[in-house]
Amino acid sequence: MARIPATLPPPYTTTGTRAASLRTNASDFSTTAEILVGPDRTRYLIHTSLLTKQSPYFRAALTSSFLEASTQSISLPDIHPETFTLLVEWLYNATLKPLPFKEDKPAYYTLLHLYILADRLCFEGLRNHIVDAISDLAESTNSVLTPSDTRLLYEGVREDAKIRELVLDLFAFKKTDKLIDTHPDRWHAGFLRDLIVRLKRPCKQAMQRHTQRMWLPKSWESTRACDNCRVILPPLQGAIACDECCCAWCIPCAGEGVAVASWEDGRPSMSYGAEAGKKAYGAPRKWESCRPWKGSRCMVYHEHRETEACWEVFMGR
Ligand SMILES: [Zn+2]
Ligand SMILES: [Zn+2]
Ligand SMILES: [Zn+2]
Repeated sequence: MARIPATLPPPYTTTGTRAASLRTNASDFSTTAEILVGPDRTRYLIHTSLLTKQSPYFRAALTSSFLEASTQSISLPDIHPETFTLLVEWLYNATLKPLPFKEDKPAYYTLLHLYILADRLCFEGLRNHIVDAISDLAESTNSVLTPSDTRLLYEGVREDAKIRELVLDLFAFKKTDKLIDTHPDRWHAGFLRDLIVRLKRPCKQAMQRHTQRMWLPKSWESTRACDNCRVILPPLQGAIACDECCCAWCIPCAGEGVAVASWEDGRPSMSYGAEAGKKAYGAPRKWESCRPWKGSRCMVYHEHRETEACWEVFMGR
């Protein structure tokens, strides 16, 4: 009987059937599979149903004609038990919390290693969870990845993985120029190239992150330039503005649905429209740019070929 290949199929090559939700029947917990991980063959006994529901790889390995299906035992000698333990914790708890820190700094590399493992073993739900975890960490600690993280991202993670989009956006939509400029370590060259392209080229999420509504500048004093094409928006002519930040666009640019990445630069907030008078007398709030990974991130950074979509529709919240 054939063994399941040691080098695993890329994601999505298998059945195409969607993984069920984590909710499961008590009867699903009667069978376990043995997974031997790492060079020392650290032994894990995991409920088969959890593995097969979340991963087409384990579905193939444990329910098909492979040798592993009859023995219910799989060896993964080149996988680190520490990383595999995180996967198992996610499998049983459906969360990655507490998120990993080392010396008070977010351990993004731990999450990247887990992403690489989730990719290899076809856990789409876990990959999306890692996207959420990195977004949350970057927000709550106001940090981004380190140069060595970018090397891991570009050397270890598959090229079309959505997590690359997230990391590029973290750098593009946060004020990271000084960090990139002065960090003593080497950023990955491919990462820097992609980041330049991201900053220069309009993208969908740069527009989707805003809460857009119609806006009519009342006078030349209260108007501003289109955030995309820099055309000055004439008073008493229809334009589009964001309720949350101080960006505005001409109608043609808003119609295209793409914008250029921009970040908070400390300008005071502008208020638009009818409530402007009231707001103008309040304390100027610190201007914050809308960020594509806040709130809904499903559209841009998640993959949902195996799992159900998250049903979050609003960007930039
Ligand atoms: Zn905005
Ligand atoms: Zn424009
Ligand atoms: Zn999603």
